[in-house]
Amino acid sequence: MEQRKVMEIKNVSMIYHTLDGETEALKDISLDIYEGEIVVLVGPSGCGKSTLLSIVAGLLKPSSGKVLINGKEVKGTNKDVGYMFQRDHLFEWRTILQNALIGLEIQNKVNDETIAFVENLLETYGLGEFKNHYPRQLSGGMRQRAALIRTLALQPEILLLDEPFSALDYQTRLRIADEIGTILKKEKKTALMVTHDIAEAICT
Ligand code: ADP
Ligand code: MG
Repeated sequence: MEQRKVMEIKNVSMIYHTLDGETEALKDISLDIYEGEIVVLVGPSGCGKSTLLSIVAGLLKPSSGKVLINGKEVKGTNKDVGYMFQRDHLFEWRTILQNALIGLEIQNKVNDETIAFVENLLETYGLGEFKNHYPRQLSGGMRQRAALIRTLALQPEILLLDEPFSALDYQTRLRIADEIGTILKKEKKTALMVTHDIAEAICT
């Protein structure tokens, strides 16, 4: 069966202009990602990983080149794309359920059906009992899962993950990388993940 191309990164370059001069963060990057693929890019700190994800997410405009999502050029943020940042960014004063619902709240889409969808995700991925807990009551790995569920709540087709496990200790990191890989496959998502940690890349 012919697989569908969901993301095309075409000759993307990015130069940051600052007071001290120019930084070439990306030079002529091209990459195609097909439906259901989980692609992991590994590179050292400062090599342009976060820049690339921000361009794909439509938060930054490349200096040259373009990105297509489902054949359409990215011109701004796109609800087919979910972005999970390097830190989990959970709000400490909101419960896990309230945190998981925040994207839906912003889009004015909280209703019985979407709440049930999110509660079901929390249940499936081992956070059902913790939905009324606060982030500080959870382990690092559980927080990371809650952050992923918050991204999944909006049902994006594509997920961008920026070093999603870097705040965790080594053992937890390997376990969570494995768990998150399993979740992405089970939910049939296409994903682009970046990391500087080769072990994390192999586990996912
Ligand atoms: P990585 O995520 O791989 O660590 P980044 O994409 O954050 O790399 O950064 C790539 C390069 O671009 C680095 O040299 C960084 O200092 C520079 N850079 C990143 N963001 C900016 C910015 N907003 N302004 C100027 N330079 C930046
Ligand atoms: Mg980065």
